[in-house]
Amino acid sequence: MKLTILSDNNTLIDRYLLGEPGFSCLVEAEGKRFLLDTGYFGIFAQNAKTMGIDWRNVDGVILSHCHDDHTRGLDAFFTDGPKPKLVAHPALFRRVLSHGLAIGCPYPRAKLERHFNLCLTAEPMALTENLFYLGAIPRVYPYMEDPAIRQGEDGPDKNPDDTALAYRGREGVYVITGCSHSGIGNILEQAKRVTGQSRILGVIGGFHLRQMDERSAGIIEYLQEEDIPHLYPCHCTALSVKVAMGARMQIEEVGAGTSLIWE
Ligand SMILES: [Zn+2]
Ligand SMILES: [Zn+2]
Repeated sequence: MKLTILSDNNTLIDRYLLGEPGFSCLVEAEGKRFLLDTGYFGIFAQNAKTMGIDWRNVDGVILSHCHDDHTRGLDAFFTDGPKPKLVAHPALFRRVLSHGLAIGCPYPRAKLERHFNLCLTAEPMALTENLFYLGAIPRVYPYMEDPAIRQGEDGPDKNPDDTALAYRGREGVYVITGCSHSGIGNILEQAKRVTGQSRILGVIGGFHLRQMDERSAGIIEYLQEEDIPHLYPCHCTALSVKVAMGARMQIEEVGAGTSLIWE
C-alpha cells in the first residue's frame, strides 16, 4: 500500500507544496486508488498536480468524518468528470456547531449525489482485499474520545461518524486516520477487529490531542504499550503532545508530500 499526504497543516522544507489546517491522503492499494478526505481549501488537488498525481481518477473518496477541514475540498469534484464512489457514515449531513459556527459538511446531500455515487454506511467495508473502511468506531476506551463539546441537532455532538482506514499488511496492520475524534485507541482496536490481526505496525493522521493533559497522557501510555514502530502523528496533534510522545517512543514528521509504502 502506498500513501501520499496531499494536505496537512505542515509542509516540508524544499518541497514547495501548500499547507492548510486540514487533511487529505491518497491511498493506493492492490491496483485501486482512494482519496481519504479532501481538506478545506481544495489544495489537495493543487498539491497533487504539483506532484504529478492524477487525483481526479480515483476509485473512491472516503470521508473520515463530516468536519469541513476534511470535506470542504469535495468541491474540486463539482465538474462534469467521472462520478467516483463516496464512502461515508450516514450521519455525514447532520448539523454540527462549534462556537456558533457550522463546521459540518458544507454541501447538501443532493449536491453530492450529482457528483458522486454515495455509499453511506456505518458498517466496516472492504475496499480491496486488504484495505478496509472501519465504519462506526465502538468506544471501548471511553476516556479516549474527543472531549470537545460541539453542538448537534439534539444536544452535544459525539462524532458518531468518525472513522479511519486500515490496511492488512503481511505482518500487521497500518492505520490512516483523519482526526480520531472517536479516540485513537478505539480506532486501533476496531482496526484489529476488522482486519483480524492483533499487531499495529503503523499509524498516520490526526490524533486529536490538542494539549498535554490526563487524557493525552493515557493515550500516550496506550501507544507505548502497543509498541508501534511507525508513528506519524499530524494534523490536529499539538506540538506539546508530539514532544511528550517523542520522549517515550519514536515518532516521525509529516507534511504535504510525505509518501510511504507499507506492505
Ligand atoms: Zn474533525
Ligand atoms: Zn480535522
